[in-house]
Amino acid sequence: MARILILGGGFGGVVAARRLATALGDQHDITLVSRNRLFVFYPALVRLAFGKCERDDVSFDLRHTMLERRVNFIEAEVARINPDERKVIIAHGEVEGQLPYDYLVFALGRRLATERVTGFYEHAHHLLNVDKALQFGKALAAFHRGHAVIGECPGARLPVPVYETAFALSRLLQDRGEKVQSRITIVSPDPSSLQLDGSQASLALQQSLASHGIEFVRDFPVNRVAPGVLLAANGSTINFNLVMLVPPFQGAPAASHLGITNDESYLNVNSTMRVVGVERMYAVGDCVNFSGPKLGHMAVRQAEVAATNLINEIEGREPSSNYVHEMRLVIDEGGADSLYMRKELWLDEPASVRQGRFWSWAKLVQEKYWRATHS
Ligand SMILES: Cc1cc2nc3c(=O)[nH]c(=O)nc-3n(C[C@H](O)[C@H](O)[C@H](O)COP(=O)(O)OP(=O)(O)OC[C@H]3O[C@@H](n4cnc5c(N)ncnc54)[C@H](O)[C@@H]3O)c2cc1C
Repeated sequence: MARILILGGGFGGVVAARRLATALGDQHDITLVSRNRLFVFYPALVRLAFGKCERDDVSFDLRHTMLERRVNFIEAEVARINPDERKVIIAHGEVEGQLPYDYLVFALGRRLATERVTGFYEHAHHLLNVDKALQFGKALAAFHRGHAVIGECPGARLPVPVYETAFALSRLLQDRGEKVQSRITIVSPDPSSLQLDGSQASLALQQSLASHGIEFVRDFPVNRVAPGVLLAANGSTINFNLVMLVPPFQGAPAASHLGITNDESYLNVNSTMRVVGVERMYAVGDCVNFSGPKLGHMAVRQAEVAATNLINEIEGREPSSNYVHEMRLVIDEGGADSLYMRKELWLDEPASVRQGRFWSWAKLVQEKYWRATHS
């Protein structure tokens, strides 16, 4: 009986656990470790901030779900891993000390490197966890006039909630009759584009932003937030009354001491999702060193590939599944300008783009489907 340890109870960890439990049944011991017993459906956090759903709608209890799949669940904080001795060091939680494993799936997601932007913690809102999204929601309720600035910091790698927040705020101000006394600006560190590669997507997005009167300021690499003013590394400044920024990302720190990550702590993996230079270890999701944005559907696909190859490895077969680095995203504009985009990031092909109210609806349906099939 092999001991399979999955670290992280997000999209990557939950999908890997499900696939492994379904294929392996009781033959092997599968355990998932996560710092929180709740799974969070992050794409819903913009809707949470705008009061379109409740706290309970965006999360579910992992312990219960894992138990149903006969996967052990441990609520604990992973400090670091020791692949030479095949052990995971737990800092605190339901267990402490070391957890041995035969096979490891690393799915600890991203670390928010807010310390890279001076004043971020004190003066900026973000919506990358449930509490922060609710706090931002209170600030939105109190915002009735002035300049709202929304954007990504350098290294943020998550454009979707930036655009969705700007569109939702535009609609909110319109509904309250406060649009004329307010201004919305998106700031981007990217000098050349809307960060969504593919000219058709950029054009469609530019038109939607223009029709909402949302300004777009490129080449604005935020490096400091002071009360009421954003400062960029190139000396530019923008005053604000309300600010929401996606902070810089890094890979999860639990593996950063091992020489198996890039400079930003993202784990180096090959297309089978095996970690390069380490035996019996797979990594999936936001924590891996792949180009482009960090997206939930990528974590899901990577987890399926990793689980398939892990099963092969346990059963003495060669890896049979390879990950293709594809970006699929929906930017929900709340109406007919909602945008779907698909692009294979390892190929130099143009993105395919669709636009329409359908995509706003489809995103909501996908969320409900996810909950129904995974909670
Ligand atoms: C506001 C927002 C909107 C988004 N919108 C979209 C979208 O529209 N479409 C899309 O595809 N993607 C979207 N994403 C991105 C998507 O949510 C992520 O790509 C996805 O969550 C990555 O999955 P993951 O499993 O790698 O990491 P996560 O989902 O972050 O899971 C990591 C897990 O590891 C646990 N963990 C972390 N560190 C430790 C530790 N030291 N010890 C124990 N446990 C730990 C965490 O608690 C968590 O359970 C959005 C993200 C946000 C924040």
